[in-house]
Amino acid sequence: MSTKYNQLQEQRSHLPTFEYKQDLVDAIREYNILVIIGETGSGKTTQIPQYIMEELPELKKVGVTQPRRIAAITGKFQFAKRVSEEQGERLGSLVGYNIRFDDRTSVDTRLVYMTDGILLREATMDPCLNKYDVIVIDEAHERTLETDVLFGLLKQTHRQRPDLKILIMSATLDVAKFSDFFGECPIFEIPGRTYPVKVVYSLDAPKLATIKSAFVDRAVETAWTIHTQQPEGDILVFLTGQQDIERACKAFSQKDRDCDYRRQVKFYNHGDGVSRAAVYPLFASLETFEQKAVFELPRQGERKIVFATNVAQTSVTIPGIRYVVDSGFVKEKSFDPNTGMDALLVTEISQAAAIQRAGRAGRTAPGKAYRLYNQESFERMEPNTIPEIQRSSLLGTVLALKTMNIVDVINFEFIDPPEETLVKNALKQLYLLEAIDEEGKITKLGVKMNHFPLSPCLARVLLASVDLQCSYEVLIITSMLAGDMELFKSPRKEEEAIEAEKCKIKLAHHTGDHMTYLNVWHEWKWRGKSRKWCKENYINYKVLETASNVRSQLMDVMDKLSLKIIKGPLIKRKKSKSSKRHIGDNDHGESVDPVPVLRSFLTGYFTNIANKAAHRSVFSHYAPDEHLGRTSAGVSSTALVALHLHPLCALSNMLDKAKIQYSELDWIMYTNITYTNKAVMKGVSKILWDWVKQGDGQARIRKLPQTRLNGEAQPSVEAEDLQAKQKQQAAEKEQNNIASLKDLEESKKRRAEEIDMIRQRALARRKKE
Ligand code: ADP
Ligand code: MG
Repeated sequence: MSTKYNQLQEQRSHLPTFEYKQDLVDAIREYNILVIIGETGSGKTTQIPQYIMEELPELKKVGVTQPRRIAAITGKFQFAKRVSEEQGERLGSLVGYNIRFDDRTSVDTRLVYMTDGILLREATMDPCLNKYDVIVIDEAHERTLETDVLFGLLKQTHRQRPDLKILIMSATLDVAKFSDFFGECPIFEIPGRTYPVKVVYSLDAPKLATIKSAFVDRAVETAWTIHTQQPEGDILVFLTGQQDIERACKAFSQKDRDCDYRRQVKFYNHGDGVSRAAVYPLFASLETFEQKAVFELPRQGERKIVFATNVAQTSVTIPGIRYVVDSGFVKEKSFDPNTGMDALLVTEISQAAAIQRAGRAGRTAPGKAYRLYNQESFERMEPNTIPEIQRSSLLGTVLALKTMNIVDVINFEFIDPPEETLVKNALKQLYLLEAIDEEGKITKLGVKMNHFPLSPCLARVLLASVDLQCSYEVLIITSMLAGDMELFKSPRKEEEAIEAEKCKIKLAHHTGDHMTYLNVWHEWKWRGKSRKWCKENYINYKVLETASNVRSQLMDVMDKLSLKIIKGPLIKRKKSKSSKRHIGDNDHGESVDPVPVLRSFLTGYFTNIANKAAHRSVFSHYAPDEHLGRTSAGVSSTALVALHLHPLCALSNMLDKAKIQYSELDWIMYTNITYTNKAVMKGVSKILWDWVKQGDGQARIRKLPQTRLNGEAQPSVEAEDLQAKQKQQAAEKEQNNIASLKDLEESKKRRAEEIDMIRQRALARRKKE
């Protein structure tokens, strides 16, 4: 074998897991459920699955799950390639990976690294996971939504298939919970090779809450003090998001440029001391090539300073870190079932997180952790981080469980059950999307929806587009929405920003974002899918490239379900002398009718509609109950909150450039809403009230059988009939009320406009006279 192979084997033998190889193999052979703990970097992910392949040939197929963000931060499971090489094979043969829309496995693959979401989808098709002999739930400490659901499912699978080997791997010590959940299964601990870390509290920061506004500056100051006064060793600073990280990087680099190292830096010299700073940002949405350098050892005399989000807490290991600066904050997404909004908020971390962060300083030598808060603040923190399942929309999760015929979702065996309102909210939404029926059972439509690797709402949109005969166009837009990267770049340099805005306006469709996406696709295709065109127009080529790939995979699903891909109707254009192509025209220079496309989207998002507030540039969410001044439990109360357009929306852009006026906006639909310091909508398009009225969505909202959906005790048949009748009568009455109210409003408005027009005409006439 080659020297490279031998080198790799040599490196493998130095990892902490190697010493315990035989013990691990014995334990895996003996126990069918096993929890393994080991420090990040000890070799759990890359080595343990290989030990199974090498020493336990009877276990033929091994599936290892990872949270999705690990895929993002490691550039699509880079380590899978490494494992392939260690096995002396090409990636995709013996060892492969499977990420949504990117499957690198073959029939020969024995070891597959996949996202927890992929395994969850496989479980909906085959709950016993018969394909696998071993399932490894890796990075279990991350407690992602999907991992938590998998825990519950695996517990059930174990009852039916006790021979399936289940390994739970975690980088943190609090694993008693996992062991308890799986019938007190044994725990295997790989002793860490860590060094002591001295924790330094900030004495001048009395309360964590009061430093919230200034923690970025304080973090930069602290890092700078370490850089200039402490001996060698790299610095890792925990901040919360891209914005503060970029700000911190800029501020630190400025200090570095202004610094006279010879005079100001205590450890300056030409040999081993510190003479330069290399500043790096680290967050999940960074492009892979930008990230690579962070993971390399610094050059001689250089000190690495990494400003990172929570990803550096457990997900990745940066070699050489000896100093940690902990801001005490994290940016966390949290779903509110009452408003249907995801709040993205900067919140205090837990004690467990603070301890984990500090530990990052002691990987290669004794280290120091500087906490930007005092000990009292630490003691007041929550002991543990709230798992994702307790703060997420459970729409996709509940649909997956329903597909597996798990009827009583509320009592599903979760390791940490979510609040009932979260589950009830998901049941309600699924009923509204017609994925489940009144009894809470999955419908044919629901089964079809589950086939798509998309959110249930987007899957519903795609299915509706087949009936509305525009699935060709909707498929394109859906593929572009499926990723979570921005299509349009927002350059920081002022001249470039102005150019980018111009391009955006040029490509914008008058109805808003959805059709704008289609415009961009058509233009890109017309230019031969050119990378250059993207660059010139400030468009993220990667989004389009990914969308292409997503599209072909969604096409396969549609094909499997015998769903037709139909080109939508066109808009007739007045014959002009020049037969010039218009922006957004399809390949044949024809203009696509936006109406069926937007109506398809409305089928999936009819609960996300809003009406412009009179005389103000904000919107208010519409729900029929709220219009009648009634908010029952579980019905969204977003009506109370003013909704804003995201500045990147096509409509915002057109408003800014006075291409349209606020007064021209009436009803809109949005595909996404987040609350930061205000409620902000993304993916926004204009719609007509008529479309809402004609759809049966609003009627479904009104006759929502929540108690039946929840599977709660039923009233007798007669009583139910009577109730239903009364409810229907009431609903009809309400509908009439709404309709007449709406008509009244409309005729009032029209009347006012007519009067205004008459007045102006009279004025003009008078002026003339
Ligand atoms: P764990 O899962 O316990 O955190 P891993 O198995 O991921 O540990 O990593 C073990 C070691 O292998 C680490 O030191 C890591 O830096 C190294 N490693 C992992 N992937 C790669 C790669 N693609 N290239 C080089 N080194 C790698
Ligand atoms: Mg790992």
